Amino acid sequence: MKKFALLFVLLPVAALAQAPGGNPLPKPELTEIWSPVPPKVEPAARPGDPPSDAILLFNGKDLSTWESAKGGPAEWGVENGELVDVPKAGDIRTTAKFGDIQLHVEWMVPVLPPDRKGQDRGNSGIYLQGLYELQVLDSYDNPTYVNGEAGSIYKQSAPLVNALKPAPNWQSYDVVYYAPRFYNDGTLAEPARVTVFLNGILVQSNFAIRGPTEYRGEPVYRPHGDGPILLQAHNNPVRYRNIWVRKL
Ligand code: MG
Repeated sequence: MKKFALLFVLLPVAALAQAPGGNPLPKPELTEIWSPVPPKVEPAARPGDPPSDAILLFNGKDLSTWESAKGGPAEWGVENGELVDVPKAGDIRTTAKFGDIQLHVEWMVPVLPPDRKGQDRGNSGIYLQGLYELQVLDSYDNPTYVNGEAGSIYKQSAPLVNALKPAPNWQSYDVVYYAPRFYNDGTLAEPARVTVFLNGILVQSNFAIRGPTEYRGEPVYRPHGDGPILLQAHNNPVRYRNIWVRKL
């Protein structure tokens, strides 16, 4: 008698595992994936600091991981653990080259005199693969063309919002970048794609980069392999720190 009663309790539960048409629903185990197990990565204690699998691009002490974009040693300054664009030093790039990456960079523009306006107010830039510029500028309260303000992919895509802090605060970029893909004949298969958070706020959402950054005219893709992270020198005293990447 007890077994009979249990059957009446279980029957409605079994009925729930049926699709509306009366067919049995697939077992939940069929959509469970157990391998490969994602590797463990140890997060940093402080958000923004490098996790355990990050590659540090600046050690805070010297320019050993950098070189001049013209070749030869990098001639930027190092002060207080920060990398400083000094006049006439020229662009610098990492000696290491990358494809798809997660990138973290912190940058700061000091308070500049009011006559430093527009593109002359704290201009620098972070070139992904040495070709595609994520603009650095003190555009907190500094009108300029919107696809040239901080958070823009220079001359291609304005940021979704102006998420800057006023100078001389430190600003942070967190970037997810996928390199372009090319066919064997050199034509473009997939454009580069970039997502950018400025101070933790989304400013570029999976933007399809249109080609290498150009100051004049339209960009045109040309095939390339891995490339460096390049920092633009613009005769502005911009500072960088805590620069790291994770290969994707
Ligand atoms: Mg720039």
